[in-house]
Amino acid sequence: MTKEFFYANINSSFLQTTQRGAAMNFSLRKRRREKVERIKPIYIMHQAGLDEQDLSSVLDGIRLVIQATKITPGLIQVKNWGVWRQEPYLDQYGLKPYHSVDWYLQRGQEESNRRNQLNADTIIRELYFEPWRKAQDHYDVFITDDDLYSGDDNNNFVIGVAQELTGTVVSTARFKGLGSHIRHECIVTEIMHEFGHVLGLIPDSRTSSVEYSLGPHCTNECVMRQGLSVPNDWIRFTEDRIRTRRPFCRECQGHLENWFR
Ligand SMILES: [Zn+2]
Ligand SMILES: [Zn+2]
Repeated sequence: MTKEFFYANINSSFLQTTQRGAAMNFSLRKRRREKVERIKPIYIMHQAGLDEQDLSSVLDGIRLVIQATKITPGLIQVKNWGVWRQEPYLDQYGLKPYHSVDWYLQRGQEESNRRNQLNADTIIRELYFEPWRKAQDHYDVFITDDDLYSGDDNNNFVIGVAQELTGTVVSTARFKGLGSHIRHECIVTEIMHEFGHVLGLIPDSRTSSVEYSLGPHCTNECVMRQGLSVPNDWIRFTEDRIRTRRPFCRECQGHLENWFR
């Protein structure tokens, strides 16, 4: 969804019933409000026992996406909550809802019908509905080293799911067998891809260089390509990213630069 499309939609009925000047004011007010909603902190949390280097790969990936948006440095705060647990996160019934990383993981397990795989859609849904969002809106980055699948789609596994404006749930599990350097770089690529989705890639308005494969993806030389062969596709995207020094193609880069404007 592009911003222009969004404005046109919300204003369409209003324009029919009011004078042009009033509609313009309404439009500007709405525009300002939406801008504020997009500028919000990024909260990172991860499963207990996550590899230290994987975490630093995640932080590097987030930093690189923020850089790519060309927003004024410091305007988007990144808060690393680590293994987040809001005391008291346990009571006589077990894990308190929405009070720890552990509870979100448990939810992913409860709604999974597969051994050893968490339902990523459940986790992202709980992140969307969490009460904390009302107190302080934010982008969520939830990191697990358990394997994920998407309960809403037909798939053997996913390395991550993302919801525009809400956040992303990312797994490092499928990169475990790789050497430490390439693994680091692949997780950076993965995070850039998933967080790219969170910041609106690929918008509905785009008609060129886009394919629909588990959501809209870029077909240019870009980290926003869909990589169904894991880790091979992701190693290739990573090598392209490093060689060209342009993680996002010109089109995706353009969309990203507009996200906060
Ligand atoms: Zn994707
Ligand atoms: Zn692209």
